[in-house]
Amino acid sequence: MAEPKKIVVLGAGYAGIPAVLTLQKSLRDGEADITLINKHDYHYFTTWLHKPAAGTDRPERSRVDLSDIIDPRKAALLKRTVRRIDTAAKTVETDEGVIPYDVLIVALGGQPETFGIPGLAEHAFFIRSLNSVRFIREHIDRQFAQFKQDESRTERLTFVVGGAGLTGIEFIGELADRIPKLCRDYDVDPALVKIINVEAAPAALPGFEASLADYAMNLLARKGVIFKLGTPVKKCTSEGVEIGDGEFIRAGTVVWAGGIRGNRVLEDSGFETVRGRVVVNPYLQAPGHDDVFIIGDSSIVLNDQGKPWPPSGQIAIQQGEAAARNVIALLRGREMATFKYVYRGTVASLGKGEAIGSVGKYKVKGIPAAILKNIVDARYLFKIGGAGLVVRKMSGFF
Ligand code: NAD
Repeated sequence: MAEPKKIVVLGAGYAGIPAVLTLQKSLRDGEADITLINKHDYHYFTTWLHKPAAGTDRPERSRVDLSDIIDPRKAALLKRTVRRIDTAAKTVETDEGVIPYDVLIVALGGQPETFGIPGLAEHAFFIRSLNSVRFIREHIDRQFAQFKQDESRTERLTFVVGGAGLTGIEFIGELADRIPKLCRDYDVDPALVKIINVEAAPAALPGFEASLADYAMNLLARKGVIFKLGTPVKKCTSEGVEIGDGEFIRAGTVVWAGGIRGNRVLEDSGFETVRGRVVVNPYLQAPGHDDVFIIGDSSIVLNDQGKPWPPSGQIAIQQGEAAARNVIALLRGREMATFKYVYRGTVASLGKGEAIGSVGKYKVKGIPAAILKNIVDARYLFKIGGAGLVVRKMSGFF
C-alpha cells in the first residue's frame, strides 16, 4: 500500500483553520497525514483584537485552543515557529527542526507594513497578535497611572493612531469608549485626553462609500476623536510623531494601523513577492510550485478586472476551504477548481452598539450594523467550533 501523503499546513489563522477543518472532514482514513504547524497552541480572532487592545474586552475572549477545534486523531498539531520553506527539498525549517511535506498550504498571515517610516518599528505599537494587544492595553493603563505621578506630563494622555483603515477606526472606536472609564478610575480630567487619528489619504475608511465613512467620522468626532486627514505620518520617536506639515505631536502612545504586508518567510524562502505577498494562480498555487498553495494575507488573488482583492478574514476563510478541496483533488488525481471569491460585504465596528456596514446594495449603520457584525462573528465561530463555541465566546454580546 502507498505511504499516506504528507499535507503540511503552516499557520492557524483565518485561512489555515478552515483549510485543516476541510481536510480532516473530507479525507478518508489513511489517505493522508495532516500536520498543522503554528507559533501558538491557540487560534485568535484577528478581527476582534481592537477590543482587547483598547481594554474594552478580555484578551482570552479573542482566542480558542487549537485542541478545541482540531481533531487530534486526524491532524497533528506542532507548536513551532516557521523559519523558511525549502521548495527544492520539500521541507519546512522551524525553530525546532525540519518537517518534510508532499503538499504544503502556506497560511502564515500578514505583518504590519511600516513603509520604511523611520522609528515606527521601534516606537509604535501594532494591533497584530494576542501578545501585542495585551501589551497595548497595559501600556494605555500605565499612561494614566504615570500621569498621576507627574501631572505636567499631559502628553501621556495623548494617543495617536496612524491610519484610518478598518484596523485604525475600529481601535479608535473602542479606545474612545474606554477613555471615560479610565478617567474615572484614575481621577483624570477627560478634557486632558486626546485621541488623534492621522491618515495620509484625504478620506477615512477607504472602501466604504462617503455617507458611511462620514457617519463613522462624525460619531467618533462626537466622542472626542480629532482627525487629521490628508496628513501622512513621517517619523515616529519615543516622544511622539512627526506628521505631514512638519508638526510634531507629543504622545505617550502611538499605534500604527497603516496597513499590512505578507509574511517575511515567503521572501526569505525565495518566492517572488509584492510587499511580501505572492500572486497565486487561479487554483491558489504558488507560480512554478504545484505542491505549494498560498492563502490568506500572504497571497494575492486578482479579481475579474485584474486588481488584487484586499486582504481580509472573509477571503482568507474562503481560500482556506478552496485550497483544501484542491489539495484533495490533487492527491486523488482529479481536476482542481478555480477559486472564485464571493464578496459578501464589510462591517466595521465603531465601539459598543455602533457600526457601519455595506452588504450588497444595502448600507447599514448604528445598532442594526452592530447586530450584523455580531452575526458575522457568530457565523465564523459556528463554522469552526459549532454552537458551543458561539455560546462560550458570544454570550453577553447580543
Ligand atoms: P488598510 O491598508 O486598509 O488601511 C491603512 C490606512 O493607513 C490607509 O487608509 C492608508 O492611507 C493609511 N496610511 C498608510 N500610510 C500612512 C502614513 N504614512 N500616514 C498616515 N496614514 C497612512 O490597513 P488595515 O486597516 O490594517 O487593514 C488591513 C486589511 O485587513 C484590509 O484589507 C482591511 O479591509 C482588513 N480588515 C478588515 C476588518 C473588518 O472586516 N472589520 C478589520 C480590520 C482589517
